Amino acid sequence: MYDEKEERRMAKGERFILLGVLGVLGVLGILGSCSKQTAVVERPAFNADSAYAYIEGQMAFGPRVPNSKAHNDCAVWLIQQLRAKGAKVELQRGQMPDYRGNMQQIYNIIAHFSTPEIDARPRILLGAHYDTRPWCDEEADYADRYYNVPGANDGASGVGVLMEIGRQLGQRIADSTLRTPVDIVFFDVEDMGTPRFYTGIEREDTWCLGSQLWAENYVKSERVKELKSERYRFGIVLDMVGAPDASFPRELYSTQYAKNYQQQIWRAAEQLGYGALFNQQQSYPITDDHYYVNYIAGIPCVDIIHYDISNGTGFASWWHTRNDDMSNISRSTLQAVGEVVMSQL
Ligand SMILES: [Zn+2]
Repeated sequence: MYDEKEERRMAKGERFILLGVLGVLGVLGILGSCSKQTAVVERPAFNADSAYAYIEGQMAFGPRVPNSKAHNDCAVWLIQQLRAKGAKVELQRGQMPDYRGNMQQIYNIIAHFSTPEIDARPRILLGAHYDTRPWCDEEADYADRYYNVPGANDGASGVGVLMEIGRQLGQRIADSTLRTPVDIVFFDVEDMGTPRFYTGIEREDTWCLGSQLWAENYVKSERVKELKSERYRFGIVLDMVGAPDASFPRELYSTQYAKNYQQQIWRAAEQLGYGALFNQQQSYPITDDHYYVNYIAGIPCVDIIHYDISNGTGFASWWHTRNDDMSNISRSTLQAVGEVVMSQL
């Protein structure tokens, strides 16, 4: 039978033992801190200058609007760069209907960082979209809506951070220190969702076409059926991660589908000293590539996305405007995001 008094006594006894242990640990801690001044977590290697250069490199092509020469040239360049780092790269092609029902060509870039010794281990998925939005439909001036978004933050920033992470992973392959296989996926046609000026019905599934295609292919793939287990432990998607005044609250779909991983990432950010950037606010659910990785592929996936709860749209003032350029990219934000993602690999 349940004896409450006994339980209380036990608890008290345990508390004494616990206090004793804590006391010893405290002394050890004081002694330890004299000899070791370093932080609790090791700061992972990440070079923001390299990430910045990869953003500039993408911007040099011009807006990477799907089916444009700039988009295709940028894709070729990214593939070459990934291969040079030691990744096995595949181009996944397909078609998905856009907001008018017209089929859009999709080219997802998938880079595998692995070695034969570790290849059977569950992988980590890192993603960002590399396309840019064809319309500046958040411009105050209606005449500006048909300009392409330059996409320094909305597109290039996530890819830039992941290219530098790819460089770090390539180094690990060369040094034989890579422990977990990582796939970096550059999703295509994320940002062609129903434009504001469209008078027809707005559909939410017109966003993130590349990740929808990727996730559908993933669940159909023979390898997944064969393994009958999770090929990926978890995923992280980066979107708009370069602004000097960035704010990364906890995005709600990530909380719903991948709460443990979100907590783990935000805790790491805090330990690395980026608790103000990766803050404790909860954002609304955002339809970004991670949503389909969660919803269709069933892989727990966390979105790191610039979101300002105090702003009307929830997004920054440059979002989907002609101002989404290099003036809104900060090396210190890239450094923070890069280190936090690297701490999970
Ligand atoms: Zn966008």
